[in-house]
Amino acid sequence: CGIVGYIGHREAYPIVIKGLKRLEYRGYDSAGVMLYDQKNIKLCKTKGKVSDLEEKAKTNFTNNGTIGIGHTRWATHGVPNDVNSHPHLSNSEELVIIHNGIIENYAPLKEELIKRGYTFKSDTDTEVLVNLIEEVQKKEKIKLGKAVQIALNQVIGAYAIAVFDKKNPDEIVAARLGSPLAIGVGENEFFIASDASPFIEYTSNAVYLEDGEMANIRLHKPLKVRKIKDDSLVDPYIQELQM
Ligand code: GLU
Repeated sequence: CGIVGYIGHREAYPIVIKGLKRLEYRGYDSAGVMLYDQKNIKLCKTKGKVSDLEEKAKTNFTNNGTIGIGHTRWATHGVPNDVNSHPHLSNSEELVIIHNGIIENYAPLKEELIKRGYTFKSDTDTEVLVNLIEEVQKKEKIKLGKAVQIALNQVIGAYAIAVFDKKNPDEIVAARLGSPLAIGVGENEFFIASDASPFIEYTSNAVYLEDGEMANIRLHKPLKVRKIKDDSLVDPYIQELQM
């Protein structure tokens, strides 16, 4: 399973697809991509290989946009099929998530969300997390980063996630606990991936998130890293990768 993300000035689709292919060695059963073209969230996902995703994207999918996230899934909750593939949307269709890992307490969280009127399209634990983030964001009237932090503190499990919010589209929020996550820091562009292989040709500067850390990855702003547990800021250590 793997995660790839891009925010910057280049077309995101080829970067995400090529990146997902480099992560194929990690194993997976489905693949998907979300692109944002400054107007719409566009999703394409399928059971099968990244090459199947490329094939599917040839029809009814415009693959432009300078913000994108992509995912290869190794199913833990819900069978491998198109609907259970990531990315997943929140009920408002404003938040988008990709997730590697497991949300162990998804069942009680899901029950609570259903009581509050949320509906679910997939059988995944991940769709519970994106709606939990949405619920926190709505209740507290806060930005995505803060909502992700509060939601993750209610979650038991393991994750590497990337979350996008259409309401504030210059940002991707990433977090990790128990699954790897690297951030490539370029000039006015950022890359996110399970390891550095998807972005090594674009930048040699990488920040490896530590377990329990999250990052606000924002265009034209310095990377902000903090601890999920207590919100304390961490000075991001930028590592020079050997090309
Ligand atoms: N638990 C999630 C799911 O089953 C993510 C699986 C993964 O790590 O790819 O959809």
